[in-house]
Amino acid sequence: MRILLVEDDPMLGEAVAVALRDAAYAVDWVRDGDRAEAALAHGEHQAVLLDLGLPRRDGLAVLRRLRRSGSAVPVIVITARDGLAERIGGLDAGADDYLVKPFEVSELLARLRAVARRQGGQAAPLLGNGRVSLDPATHQASCGGLTVLLSAREFALLHALLMRPGRILSRAELEERIYGWNEEVESNAVDFLIHNLRKKLGPEVIKNVRGAGWMVER
Ligand code: CA
Repeated sequence: MRILLVEDDPMLGEAVAVALRDAAYAVDWVRDGDRAEAALAHGEHQAVLLDLGLPRRDGLAVLRRLRRSGSAVPVIVITARDGLAERIGGLDAGADDYLVKPFEVSELLARLRAVARRQGGQAAPLLGNGRVSLDPATHQASCGGLTVLLSAREFALLHALLMRPGRILSRAELEERIYGWNEEVESNAVDFLIHNLRKKLGPEVIKNVRGAGWMVER
């Protein structure tokens, strides 16, 4: 799952980016409102962490324009503005959740898992399609009575497929969800991860659709 982090505070931004990457998210980090809008125009992120007090363009203005453009990408506002009016303003402008600084990274990660679940149309904490299930809190996958721990990238790939069971994701779509802007992607990286996942969970878990990509069954 690919996250756009919009935060101008270098120390907080670095801490959040590191924590997100440790939790297997691909992270692109921008430090002002204009760059945030430019990044959001591509629609390549599955969630946004948005500071409100930003150089060049205020976070609320970024959020309002994003919603006017029709984007439904989940947005969690992270900000020091903790007044009631600010919180209500953020939610009414289209935020899905709100986190007041200072916050614990573990809480941020839990809120991200929650918005990811809702985005996938599920309320239950486990993602699954009946054959395989995945726990975003522990990165454990279960299949046929077997439970295994996945690496960060294996988790990210299986998570992307299980968000939309039955939908084919191409190599480019999978790479986009697993890697950030600055990360080098080896040409066979997706094949390598699929191979590992099939070895851990069984060959039937991920289907290859020749020439199109990969999917998990609905
Ligand atoms: Ca700020």
